[in-house]
Amino acid sequence: MTTKVLYRPTLVLNRNWQPVSVATVARALVMLWNETARVVDPADFRLYTWADWSRLTPREGDAIVRGCSLQLRAPEVVALSDYDRLPTAAVTFSRRNIFKRDHYTCQYCGTQPGTAELTLDHVVPRSQGGQSSWANCVLACLPCNKRKADRTPEQAHMHLRKQPIRPTWKPLYAAHRVRVESWSKFVSEAYWNVELASE
Ligand SMILES: [Zn+2]
Repeated sequence: MTTKVLYRPTLVLNRNWQPVSVATVARALVMLWNETARVVDPADFRLYTWADWSRLTPREGDAIVRGCSLQLRAPEVVALSDYDRLPTAAVTFSRRNIFKRDHYTCQYCGTQPGTAELTLDHVVPRSQGGQSSWANCVLACLPCNKRKADRTPEQAHMHLRKQPIRPTWKPLYAAHRVRVESWSKFVSEAYWNVELASE
């Protein structure tokens, strides 16, 4: 139970209280401990240092992190003490984000065999000048990847379920199934869902 709490998401704000990322409760507590962040109480926007936070008595219904000698409320929002970078505008082209965009699904046969059984496929193979880009990389299961080999989908007579494009979401929420209610005070839905200009 305690371990599970440590993996809950915590919204990370920069010094200007703009959301920059989502961290686990465990990570947020480390940031609190080493004073790189303070907890924001979403109810009254009070800021808490580790000393303040660890002294609070958990309320009924609070998610609790239990240590040997202390009980801590799991922070839902933290603000970085010394960080004013703005959130980046575009979704990073990364393996992780390709998995999210393609919903952990083989883009050729539609199976969901699990992360270990999925590979990144270059639609137009690199050997034929294909780039590593949002528009040319999709998830493929091992059998499809093997079958397609060093060919384009046309050459292999395989069909893409959909044309790969750069996703328009910010991976802030996408990273977590959980939507924390208190975050809505800090995150404008419109801001995160706005369609970003393609490159
Ligand atoms: Zn497949």
